[in-house]
Amino acid sequence: MGKTEKFDHMKLIREYAGGHKNLITLGRIFAAISAVMTLIPYYELWKVIRTAVNGEDPENIKGYAWAAVALIVGALLVYIMALFCTHIAAFRVQANMRSSLMRRIITLPLGVFDEDGTGRIRRIVNDSTAATETYIAHNIPDKTVAAITPIGLLVLVFAFDWKIGLICMIPALIGFVCMMSMMGKGMQEKMKEYQDALETMSSEATEYVRGVPVVKTFGQTVHSFKRFKSCIDGFGKWATDYTLLLRFPMTGFMTCINAIFAFIVIAAFVVTKNGVDNASVLNIMYYIIITPLVTIALTKIAYSGEAEMTLIDALKRVEKIMEIIPLEDGKSDKMPEDFGLELKNVTYRYKDATRDAVNDVSLAIKPGEHVALVGPSGSGKTTLAELMVRFFDVSSGEILIGGVNVKDISQSTLMKQVSFVFQDSKLIKKSILENVRMARPDASEEEVLEALRKAQCMDIIEKLPKGINTVIGEKGTYLSGGEQQRITIARAVLKDAPILILDEATAFADPDNETKVQEAFEELAKDKTLIMIAHRLSTVMNADKIFVMDNGRLTESGTHKELMDKGGLYKKMFDEYTRSIEWKVGA
Ligand code: ADP
Repeated sequence: MGKTEKFDHMKLIREYAGGHKNLITLGRIFAAISAVMTLIPYYELWKVIRTAVNGEDPENIKGYAWAAVALIVGALLVYIMALFCTHIAAFRVQANMRSSLMRRIITLPLGVFDEDGTGRIRRIVNDSTAATETYIAHNIPDKTVAAITPIGLLVLVFAFDWKIGLICMIPALIGFVCMMSMMGKGMQEKMKEYQDALETMSSEATEYVRGVPVVKTFGQTVHSFKRFKSCIDGFGKWATDYTLLLRFPMTGFMTCINAIFAFIVIAAFVVTKNGVDNASVLNIMYYIIITPLVTIALTKIAYSGEAEMTLIDALKRVEKIMEIIPLEDGKSDKMPEDFGLELKNVTYRYKDATRDAVNDVSLAIKPGEHVALVGPSGSGKTTLAELMVRFFDVSSGEILIGGVNVKDISQSTLMKQVSFVFQDSKLIKKSILENVRMARPDASEEEVLEALRKAQCMDIIEKLPKGINTVIGEKGTYLSGGEQQRITIARAVLKDAPILILDEATAFADPDNETKVQEAFEELAKDKTLIMIAHRLSTVMNADKIFVMDNGRLTESGTHKELMDKGGLYKKMFDEYTRSIEWKVGA
């Protein structure tokens, strides 16, 4: 959808409604009929007043009253039918939207699902589709009523005494103008800002809650969460600005719609200036009852406008996900010839970033070789490793696995060739058995146990109440970071893929865990091509080759000895590292 194009929300809704789109139309028709039926009783009411004022036969009143009651009940029933239609359509649209989103999400580059991304996507799948559902189910019939009622009211207002009608319409007209100024493009922008602010606040709040233990342990105050605080301050400022912006139109609107009675008084003076007669008394009484309806109708239009802005914002968010380009999969599905890797002039820049995270990197890794990626934090190690297994597609250059461009290998083949163990590899809320088995669903329980054994997990299993059938996260079953990482290593052991990417953990709470994780890594990496993102240099000395990254570029490569002899960045880092170790020992 082009930016200049007007956003046609109804077109989009009809697309998602599919075969159910006629229900939306039907719902509108029922709502319109109901709106007209609701207005007719006011004519009956006028007849009741006329009977009283003119002293006609009081028996007639009963008939008028019953007709009014029947119409009101009828209108209600028809409105229920309208709601019935729109609700079915709304549920269908919501279901279709969610399933389209889920289908799209599964094709997206893995890189989209970083910490920040998952929360945002979850919010869109849940909240934005729910907002759409509410709009179709409730706001569409409401809006139809809101559109029909003023027209019907205009007829009623001018039919009996156009002079009173005209005077009463003055405040309604000004109110309408005030209301229109509260909608429009500027307000749509504001609505987006509001939703954006809510989104950032909610993710910052999560970060804050997550960080509470750190804050407390280090004796800090809440103010250490500057981002959260500035986020709330920002929102507060936004809310004040927004309120100020609405100050005049809203005051105008409220004053006008509540001033209608004052105008009726003026109208009463005008029509009775030549003396009071039955007809004028009848009409004034009638207008006292009917004019507030204009107020109600206008308020309804105002609210339906707000609902529409919320809806448009929700739909735009859904579309944004649908517009992310999925990784193109499998025009051809070539098998890699071996399990070596080659990068040719690979460059990658994150969306909206100002510099390349990986800049013109070329390197080769032979099958079965164990290599390490080292470099300062932010130098591009993780990005480079993620590119190798197509978390994203390169901005330029080529990545070959076993002589085949990764783009020519289908996702499923590629995923069979590679295992990764990241620091924050997620365990899901299922049993340990099921968690490990995700790597290979047909694996027997014996095989899973064997993998757990190789990954040094038996001490974890033994202390759990139900062994490998213990559900992680249930009833206080808590695994430490290192323990979780060992379970994810077991997953990789079971998968037994020929290429392995390891993100070495930066910190461990206890040395016992650290030793076990190292042993598990060694077991896992046997006979495999290993790419290790190394954060500490003690583990890289034995690597066949070390690639040193700096600022997105590959600056040095070679064995530990070669790099030490060379005396470049690696030597500098290594010397610093040894000093820090000595310092620790000394201390
Ligand atoms: P390393 O693993 O060496 O610490 P990374 O590969 O994580 O480095 O990061 C390289 C650069 O890319 C850094 O400047 C980082 O800020 C940036 N970067 C990393 N992830 C993202 C992302 N999802 N979006 C935008 N920039 C990112």
